[in-house]
Amino acid sequence: MRPFVKVVKAEDPCSAAYEAISAVLIHDVKGKRVLLKPNTGFEGPAKSGLCTHPEVIRGLIRFFKDQGAAEIITGDSSVIGVNSLQALKSAGIYEVCEQEGVKCIDLNDSAPVEMKIKNGYVVDSILFSSIVFNVDLVVSVPVMKTHMYTGASLGIKNMKGTMYKREKNKLHRLTKSPPPGAQERSLDFGILDLTTVCYPDYVVTDGIIGMEGFGPSGGKPRPYGMIVASSTPVACDMISLQLMGMSLSDVGHIKLIAQREGLTYDRIKVDPVDYKKFCAKFITPLEAKLEIKCDNLEFVDESACSGCHTALLQFMRYHRDKFKEGDRITLFAGKDLDEKEIMSRKDKAFLVGNCTAKYRKLAPFCKGCPPVDSEILKVIKGLGGVIIEYLGHSAFSLKTKDYNILIDPYLTNNPMASDDRQNLKATHICVTHGHYDHVGDAVEIAQQNNSEVYSTHKVAEALLKGTKVVTGDIGGVIKTEFGYAKLVSAIHSSGVCGGIACGFILDVEGVKIYHAGDTALTMDMQLLAQERIDVALLPIGGISTMGPLDAVEAVKLIRPKMVIPMHYNTTIAIRQDPHFFQRAVERETEAEVKVLSPGESFRV
Ligand code: SF4
Ligand SMILES: [Zn+2]
Ligand SMILES: [Zn+2]
Repeated sequence: MRPFVKVVKAEDPCSAAYEAISAVLIHDVKGKRVLLKPNTGFEGPAKSGLCTHPEVIRGLIRFFKDQGAAEIITGDSSVIGVNSLQALKSAGIYEVCEQEGVKCIDLNDSAPVEMKIKNGYVVDSILFSSIVFNVDLVVSVPVMKTHMYTGASLGIKNMKGTMYKREKNKLHRLTKSPPPGAQERSLDFGILDLTTVCYPDYVVTDGIIGMEGFGPSGGKPRPYGMIVASSTPVACDMISLQLMGMSLSDVGHIKLIAQREGLTYDRIKVDPVDYKKFCAKFITPLEAKLEIKCDNLEFVDESACSGCHTALLQFMRYHRDKFKEGDRITLFAGKDLDEKEIMSRKDKAFLVGNCTAKYRKLAPFCKGCPPVDSEILKVIKGLGGVIIEYLGHSAFSLKTKDYNILIDPYLTNNPMASDDRQNLKATHICVTHGHYDHVGDAVEIAQQNNSEVYSTHKVAEALLKGTKVVTGDIGGVIKTEFGYAKLVSAIHSSGVCGGIACGFILDVEGVKIYHAGDTALTMDMQLLAQERIDVALLPIGGISTMGPLDAVEAVKLIRPKMVIPMHYNTTIAIRQDPHFFQRAVERETEAEVKVLSPGESFRV
């Protein structure tokens, strides 16, 4: 049977979506569970062209209800750094689901499931959100978009959003090359591999307001008023491409899948037959690039993905005026950079995005996956941010332009200490409790530097005499020059009769860092999620604190952006593998884990 595609010129998105899916339905839907997978990778209303139009979702919900579906679920998982439910809400989809009485979910809330890929070109397995495999029918509902890296993002590419949490980056960090002689990129083959295990049953492409130029997030909305649907996903994408004025050779993954299925345009039946009269010319990323220019900024983005492309574009949009004069600078993104090229720019080179972290000794580095334009600016200006240095055990230094805050500075007699206390300068010192491996050299360093010291009452009274100490109790906030220090509970003995142990939330010039002190896993950590912690410093040693498994649970409660393990491997009793912890956290949460050796540091 020839693949069939329905094209509907939409006056009303809801009824157009209903009409389009009615025309292509081939299943008996009665009693079935249906998943609608919109494109809400980024936050934005329908008029922005970023997200699927909520009325298209309404039309599909009504259709599947009328067909007697047992359950209809709408869900997506946004790009890393974007809250999926927030994105569904911003698009208006969440509200429509509430009105229509169906579930609207973050796909990451279902457990992950690993799917093996037999004879994959570039990947052997992919972790997905299991819900995708626990329903009877999956309907991909993408926005019609151009895409900076894949040419276009349509029904098949939209399924990348079913990959579990950070797994999404897997296709952008491929180590295997495409087959010799192939013109398509690794990412195209990655999407091809993905479709062997996760392929939608239907595609309903929302071209009500598409996106052109620097899609999928940095482009311009393109009002188009069209819906395209099919039960043959690749046929739907091929016809959508034609309507956008693009060819199959512009979009590697669609071309590869069409080849795999032996599909050519002449085999596709389209209703109406004269659908080409609706063809529009979407501006491609290549054409759009010419619109924004700044002579003093250069980008080198070897194998960077659309996340970094979008960040660089946003940076150019919002900050290019600041670079009209002065030295020409180069921003490097992506994982396959040429060290010599970075070196040749000397101090005019900047590294952007986590993929460039391995070159950070060569040039200033802006973290993020994807990075944020305002952070890129700070790194270029040499401003802002906090340099977090691990000093060994539970000791850290948090350095800004004006301050150096030490936490639990146990250096003398610490076999893991990276430094000598004589070398340490401190404007402020935090002491979580009275055990020797936390008070450490606090008094001596404070006296040498006239540092302000923060701790709980009894601990200060007994062990921090002769320093400028400011005390508080759990829940208290001490206002400081750098921001504030908030004392939070830690389930642990204090080392001082009648005293209490604490952890600290430090707001250091806007960066929120949580040092847990010594603690067990506790439900109190749930409250820390409201604090929006940037970096959590968590003990994983066991015996006198939580061990790695409990620490993973702690990360789930705290929901920080980044985690650094501490309080391990100082003695045999607390020997642990921090990389085991790292893998577990990155598999089960969205947090990134940095395993630092004593003496290592990075900027947040
Ligand atoms: S750092 Fe940039 S290029 Fe690398 S995976 Fe993240 S967004 Fe993509
Ligand atoms: Zn202790
Ligand atoms: Zn300890």
